[in-house]
Amino acid sequence: MNKIEHLGIAVKSLDASNELFHKLLGVAPYKLEVVASEGVKTSFFKTGESKIELLEATNEESPIAKFIEKRGEGIHHIAFDVADIKAEIKRLKEEGFVVLNETPKKGADNKWVVFLHPKATNGVLIELCQEIDSIE
Ligand code: ZN
Repeated sequence: MNKIEHLGIAVKSLDASNELFHKLLGVAPYKLEVVASEGVKTSFFKTGESKIELLEATNEESPIAKFIEKRGEGIHHIAFDVADIKAEIKRLKEEGFVVLNETPKKGADNKWVVFLHPKATNGVLIELCQEIDSIE
């Protein structure tokens, strides 16, 4: 596993939070993207080496809607950049982690993504991501 690629934050209103993070970080989001399959609208901020993803639910069945209902707004996941997502899935399964989607799926920001169940990771949802262009 490489560096933390981004932190994901669940928000009620992407518009309001975009404004807030723009003020906080001094930069506008560099990308806005809807991931229909996940029921989310996202925005990405970059500050120095670090990236923040804001996520708003687009429907009530969205994992983000459920998260906010249960825990309120806040940090939703930590995403790690990996060089070989398939090899990491295999390795982590062997270590006893629960992989939520065995086959990497297309996430936001041009990434293949896989999530690990928070039950096996101290209550923190972990995302693994790999740049789509870097996979064969
Ligand atoms: Zn993410």
